[in-house]
Amino acid sequence: MNHVDPELDRPSEECGVIGISTPGSDAAQNAFFGLYALQHRGQEAAGIAVADGQAVRVHKDMGLVSQVFESGTLDPLVGGLAIGHTRYSTTGANSERNVQPYVVETMHGPLGIAHNGNLVNADHLREQLLQRGAGLSSSSDSEVLALMLAATEGDSWEHRLSKVMGEWRGAFSLVVLCGTKVIGCRDPWGFRPLSIGRMPNGGHALASETGALRTLGCDNIREIEPGEIVVLQGQMARSFQGVAPAERQARCTFEQIYFSRPDAIWDDLSVHQVRQRLGAAVAREHPVDADMVMPVPDSSMPAAIGYAAAAGITYNEGFVKNRYIGRTFIEPTDELRRQGVALKFNTLNDNIAGKRVVMVDDSIVRGTTSGPLVRLVREAGALEVHVRITCPPIAHPCFFGVDMGTHEELIAHHLSVEEIRDHIGADSLGFLSVPSLMGALEREDGYCNACFTGDYPVPVQLQLPTTSKRRFDGVLV
Ligand code: AMP
Repeated sequence: MNHVDPELDRPSEECGVIGISTPGSDAAQNAFFGLYALQHRGQEAAGIAVADGQAVRVHKDMGLVSQVFESGTLDPLVGGLAIGHTRYSTTGANSERNVQPYVVETMHGPLGIAHNGNLVNADHLREQLLQRGAGLSSSSDSEVLALMLAATEGDSWEHRLSKVMGEWRGAFSLVVLCGTKVIGCRDPWGFRPLSIGRMPNGGHALASETGALRTLGCDNIREIEPGEIVVLQGQMARSFQGVAPAERQARCTFEQIYFSRPDAIWDDLSVHQVRQRLGAAVAREHPVDADMVMPVPDSSMPAAIGYAAAAGITYNEGFVKNRYIGRTFIEPTDELRRQGVALKFNTLNDNIAGKRVVMVDDSIVRGTTSGPLVRLVREAGALEVHVRITCPPIAHPCFFGVDMGTHEELIAHHLSVEEIRDHIGADSLGFLSVPSLMGALEREDGYCNACFTGDYPVPVQLQLPTTSKRRFDGVLV
């Protein structure tokens, strides 16, 4: 059986998706530009599938969008309809077979699917498909989605989608391509973002983030609602409620904290503004006497701006980051991740030397980044290094599509705040509380905070977490 252990071998679908319907035949070109703007959501693989009214063609491969689509690769992808996908790293699962869009031939014609999110009942659904005689070629949830959709009765793809999506539990922001239309939908909890906009020369685009829609020159941008299905056909877009929104809405807080690009608007909130408020909130919660506030670039810049403004401390840069090195986070071993940190950051010693520094970062996940960064800041001559994190300790894995690692790997699952401070070698360490986080979002509920609280909005099959302390950085703690 193509079993995927939910914790050890999750085909984590932390990705970006795009869907285009244009009156001309340049849907692939637009999908390419859209994917480029979603590159931060996944650097492992990319793909585009195109339909011209009949056939569906796909080009996809491992690599960055710019590597997968070299000059000439888009030429055969002719048609006015396209979907695209950029994929984050996977741990363990056979990566190449999981590259999306996933395209299958069905009794109703060709079907392509690109998926952002992670289903928590995928194993169960996969087992059901196998029992019904279906063959599965990958460990990807998207294949399960595609085969279930193809096997559902209904007189149109959107009809079939509305009938089957109630069976899917967990996170799915989907774009679906058939010969004549592009369909988008969002799970009833609203875990992952998906928005729609009107293309400048007619037609519509769907994208994980509004920034990608703006790159395409879209106007009339709005979010797809939880449970909503949108159908793009030629110039037209129509929408209906596929399933009722869940009673407990569960937008991913981590999209606001870290994952989305800061130019995104989600839940009517500017992500950049949210991050500034997160920084201000942690400044109020964990004040400290200091001479300079510096971000860990790039993701923490808005938060450090917010911290500095609220604390009345000078903001300055302390790191220069090499933007051409991939995420240190996705290196397979802790040692490689540590080396990656040193390769990626140089310090601006003249800014740092002789100062009491507040180093702001958005999160501590496995705990491999902060320690080496604190060391670099000390080596640059800082008198004190105070670390401020604009989210609460991440002590529980995400089952809805953010690659945070297992219980085993999460430092806050094993160590207290004081132990983490000691581990990273900071003079002080402050995390934001959940209430302050929600305060910065200006929302009382509607978000999934399970990675902080362990309170999952959809029941998940938890592996028994270990409570033992483990080795970090070769130090027994
Ligand atoms: P860690 O060393 O595991 O504690 O990683 C924390 C750093 O990685 C922070 O600087 C974050 O900005 C970044 N980060 C947090 N979550 C993720 C993620 N899901 N994927 C990639 N990078 C992340």
